[in-house]
Amino acid sequence: MGYDNDNIFAKILRGDIPNKTVYEDDFVLAFHDVSPQAPVHVLVIPKGAYVDIADFSARASHTEKAGFFSAVNTIVSELGLNEQGFRTIFNTGDHGGQEVPHMHMHILGGEKLGAMLGHK
Ligand code: AMP
Repeated sequence: MGYDNDNIFAKILRGDIPNKTVYEDDFVLAFHDVSPQAPVHVLVIPKGAYVDIADFSARASHTEKAGFFSAVNTIVSELGLNEQGFRTIFNTGDHGGQEVPHMHMHILGGEKLGAMLGHK
């Protein structure tokens, strides 16, 4: 599947749609999810055009990969999540329930989260 330049996160990266930014650097943008599923619900997206985690794993440079995960460390620290923990999710494709076709990592925390797969 090719990358859709009109997906909502591409529009956020272009500044066409506003976002509540938590963190930004050369590699990532992190912002609050518009429909939070926990007291803390932040999305981290790479600035490059990647459809999902599989696409990013396959095509991103080592520099982009290092940049992404270094930023994750900064973000969870700034959100104060390290001591009590948090959950990260990369929904991918149809079975994964991915709605927006630009790779994103959900960071969820701020309370004890329920079963990993709520509906199962
Ligand atoms: P996923 O189902 O993994 O593709 O997650 C997409 C997430 O993007 C959902 O949790 C949505 O609430 C969130 N979302 C959709 N549009 C926006 C937006 N404009 N700003 C922030 N979060 C958004």
